[in-house]
Amino acid sequence: MPEGPSIIILKEEVQPFIGKKIIKVEGNSQLDIQRLCGQTIIDFKSWGKHFLICCEDFTVRIHFMLFGSYRINERKENAPRLRLIFKKGEINFYACSVKFIEEDLDEVYDWTSDVMSDQWDAKAAERKLKKIPDTLVCDALLDQQIFAGVGNIIKNEVLFRTYIHPESRVGSIPLKKIKELIKEARNYSFDFLKWKKEYVLKKHWLAHTKIICPRCNIRFIKKYCGKTNRRSFFCNNCQVNYSEEEPG
Ligand SMILES: [Zn+2]
Repeated sequence: MPEGPSIIILKEEVQPFIGKKIIKVEGNSQLDIQRLCGQTIIDFKSWGKHFLICCEDFTVRIHFMLFGSYRINERKENAPRLRLIFKKGEINFYACSVKFIEEDLDEVYDWTSDVMSDQWDAKAAERKLKKIPDTLVCDALLDQQIFAGVGNIIKNEVLFRTYIHPESRVGSIPLKKIKELIKEARNYSFDFLKWKKEYVLKKHWLAHTKIICPRCNIRFIKKYCGKTNRRSFFCNNCQVNYSEEEPG
């Protein structure tokens, strides 16, 4: 599943289509996608894992879910969910969720919760975390209302970088570590972006899908943690479970 940085890359790749008119629309989406025909692309935006195609009077929201993908100026063999054809070139979206947004985007999206946005607000994230003390940190990091764009890879790497055990409850983590966590959620996302562009992302994984902790040289734990039930890779030795340390 593409995480926030991958959507930024997509946004950069489609820049040549801004100002261009859609001359033909295809795809197996159940929505009235033909309304896109004749529309001119005003802009492309993103919010976390949402990719937004902005037209004059409405926006198309693409969410890649678990198996979605895209191709620009080339096609995959399977049928596209949505294909936008321009005089020169085309954009293809596969196995994704397509939705029309009629409202003003500022009404729909809180841009300050997007970890990659210029409007990202670390203080706001801190305030939101304060309100959910009983939530496990592995779930909190995947909460798109707090950390839009953070996916499972970023979650695992950020928790490893900050020495925090995924099953720590948010309320038991010291404020200094919470601030570090929030900072790293953004930092690592930009490292992810840089490495992904250089095709060296996986090479830089320290925890995600790894067997051995590079700091302790002992086996990582692989466990489906929290309510989100996503794979966590962590070290019981160097990542602190702050909830366990609590008295009683
Ligand atoms: Zn370790």
